[in-house]
Amino acid sequence: MIVKDLLNLKNINFFAIIIGSGPAGISTALELEKKKIKSLVIEAGDLEQKDSDLNFLNGKVIGHKYADLTHARLRQFGGSSGHWGGNCNPMNAENFNDWPISKKEIDKYSEKARKILNLNLKEKFYNERLNDHLNTYNINWSNVKFGEKYLEHIKKSKYIYLSLKTNLRNFEGNSKSINSINCNNFKNKIKLKAKYYILSCGGIENSRILLWSKELDKGLFTNELPIGNYYMDHPYYSLGEGLVFYEPFVNYFKKNKLKNIPILTCNSSLFISANNSFLKSNKILNSGIYIWFQEIEEKNNLFKQVRCVAPNFIKNIYENLKVKKKYKINISTQQEQSPTFSNKINLGTKKDPNGTPYPLIYWQKSKFEKKSARVISEELSKLFIDFDIGRISLHSELYNDKDYDVVAGNHQMGGTRIGNNPKDSVVDKNLKVHGIDNLFINGSSVFRTGGHSHPTYTIVKLALRLGEHLSKLNV
Ligand SMILES: Cc1cc2nc3c(=O)[nH]c(=O)nc-3n(C[C@H](O)[C@H](O)[C@H](O)COP(=O)(O)OP(=O)(O)OC[C@H]3O[C@@H](n4cnc5c(N)ncnc54)[C@H](O)[C@@H]3O)c2cc1C
Repeated sequence: MIVKDLLNLKNINFFAIIIGSGPAGISTALELEKKKIKSLVIEAGDLEQKDSDLNFLNGKVIGHKYADLTHARLRQFGGSSGHWGGNCNPMNAENFNDWPISKKEIDKYSEKARKILNLNLKEKFYNERLNDHLNTYNINWSNVKFGEKYLEHIKKSKYIYLSLKTNLRNFEGNSKSINSINCNNFKNKIKLKAKYYILSCGGIENSRILLWSKELDKGLFTNELPIGNYYMDHPYYSLGEGLVFYEPFVNYFKKNKLKNIPILTCNSSLFISANNSFLKSNKILNSGIYIWFQEIEEKNNLFKQVRCVAPNFIKNIYENLKVKKKYKINISTQQEQSPTFSNKINLGTKKDPNGTPYPLIYWQKSKFEKKSARVISEELSKLFIDFDIGRISLHSELYNDKDYDVVAGNHQMGGTRIGNNPKDSVVDKNLKVHGIDNLFINGSSVFRTGGHSHPTYTIVKLALRLGEHLSKLNV
């Protein structure tokens, strides 16, 4: 139900207060609802973000050029899913090597997550061997904006209470447990209490709120917790361009008995990544390589240029390979970033209208990340030459020290990472803050590594697992 007047609920002791109504917060609330457990979801924004909300989304980034923070997240019911791309794919098993939980553990929630994200239950994810070093994988597309899909459901729910325009400022308590939270509800300042608190405010806000709570009360949380550290994103940038010869390209898939033969049309895409043994032997991170196809005519300039510098090559395409259709390709990457202590969220000096300091983010890309993308794309380039299925030209920035432009920065991960050791993690395997018995963190801020996959499918699975765990505490 929608709570019109939060003051009326002031004296209700909820089992759980979920702070934030994005994919993470809503998925946990839905799981609790299934177990007939009441939760109060508080959301800082209204049903739709207004211009005035931008005053809460500012922040400063030190380091490399990064996404505009006012566009990198949404302050409204349903969170950033209100304008996300809807791309879903799972993280690889190897991405969990350093986590205290395995992919298998998280995958128990795959079917429920697919239902929440309206993903076709029959259309599974695949990861197929392209050659000894590379795989091809698919992405499933979700049309779910959580605010739109779940508003009517929550309005009618007896178990989910939703309070909009309710902004959490800080937690109060001691080094062992949280006693209450201080919120702004419209113009009222209000204190709320629950048995458990589930912080689900997104990849930047989760760290920001914990840091501010600790700043206001130095006794809250043990000092050693690396709150805000190991912040990561998926730098997305262009690697190069090239040509694909349709018939030999498709034949390569058929000859290698790949189940999923790409259907090349204008603006279709193909996704490639490196397999684990290639990553290990080259000591590199993974990259999701995106190939975007565009059919080209012979009179296309690119084709004319290639004909000038490599006439025999073009002759071969027609005479031996019998190529009829050619595609111009653009290649970009969604790059895995290594978790680095110095990439972090801190508090800035300027404050938002509620008096909470804006985030100050230290964010650097590393040479190691650039090298990783280069090695994988060179491998792809070699495959194209070896089997005469196309040609790739990589940007010169991959071979020199020049910086490269990052197009996106919308997958905020890390900052409250999962782990067994409080010296290098903030939450345990059940997403409970180390040392605090009733505070849980929900969302990609708990990611210990980010792989190269889109985060939300994993966020939803983790949130469902958290809901199930909480329900077992309801005794
Ligand atoms: C442009 C764009 C495209 C994207 N495309 C993809 C994609 O294709 N695939 C993918 O997997 N991911 C994508 N993402 C990322 C995806 O949107 C996030 O991973 C996902 O929304 C995170 O869910 P969340 O619930 O953890 O956080 P959010 O969605 O950020 O929700 C957090 C909620 O908490 C609320 N909140 C914040 N602070 C407070 C406070 N102090 N008090 C109360 N409430 C608060 C916010 O208003 C918000 O509603 C994209 C993101 C953007 C911006």
